[in-house]
Amino acid sequence: MFQLGNAQSGTTGTSNATMRGMPLDPMTIQAPSREPADTKIVFELEDVAISYGANVAISGVNLQVPENQITALIGPSGCGKSTLLRSLNRMNDLIPTASLTGSVHYHGADLYAATVDPVEVRRRIGMVFQKPNPFPKSIFDNVAYGPRILGTKNKKVLGELVERALTRAALWDEVKNKLKTSGLALSGGQQQRLCIARALAVEPDALLMDEPCSALDPIATARIEELMFELRESITIVIVTHNMQQAARASDKTAFITTDVGADEHRSGRLVEFEETQVLFTTPKDERTEAYITGRFG
Ligand code: ADP
Repeated sequence: MFQLGNAQSGTTGTSNATMRGMPLDPMTIQAPSREPADTKIVFELEDVAISYGANVAISGVNLQVPENQITALIGPSGCGKSTLLRSLNRMNDLIPTASLTGSVHYHGADLYAATVDPVEVRRRIGMVFQKPNPFPKSIFDNVAYGPRILGTKNKKVLGELVERALTRAALWDEVKNKLKTSGLALSGGQQQRLCIARALAVEPDALLMDEPCSALDPIATARIEELMFELRESITIVIVTHNMQQAARASDKTAFITTDVGADEHRSGRLVEFEETQVLFTTPKDERTEAYITGRFG
């Protein structure tokens, strides 16, 4: 059984933003800084490398993901963002060729220790994918799915759990009178919020979002971004996005990843810069970050 235990709190540095190049309109950078001095670290990655067979997708990653914040992973296609995201709840375990070296700690506990149950990991660390993927079941049954698997049978308790999850996912008012309708009958944006509700129904501590808005229109996208801000009050969010404006609008911290040759002379995904979003988008330290956020490549 995976224990949270040994909660290890750490601090992350804060930086002063001084406007230099202003590659993005700072008006679009809305996320306020949320980094008090006692910020706890949820995920701590040390020298992480992830390979598919002999192909090293990403390597040399050192990263600390702070609690109750939204951390965005950005970078050009194929640099290893999704691969890195999936390492945070052991989803890569489901890919036979995937392997990981280095360490990933979750609240101070080794996520990859032999004693850790990956199924329990995925309950605590939920995931939402690019394409909304409701089950071909009713709205109620989609959300009740996880709690039922975990043993909740009582109808009243299930009803309360479903209402709470749908409310947290900002979908309750839109679906409360049609809970028996198929989840597949909802609009794309509603389906994505249904998937978020399904993930929330098992009370995860963190939510990993892999390009959750890439299949959605701007209004549905804005609704999900608003929802992310509401959710970060209670959970930690890591989001992969290819949309820089989204990262700038909707995250507290941003990690820029690109494919490059590192000190080890191998070409793979590299974490170039990790900063408060406002700082990364206004005063990037690395010229590769600057080139990317100003649209010179990627
Ligand atoms: P991104 O999310 O930044 O687009 P990915 O993490 O999807 O990047 O992919 C990083 C690299 O790993 C790419 O070269 C990709 O082809 C490879 N890769 C991703 N998933 C798999 C897989 N299941 N099997 C083999 N190679 C993969």
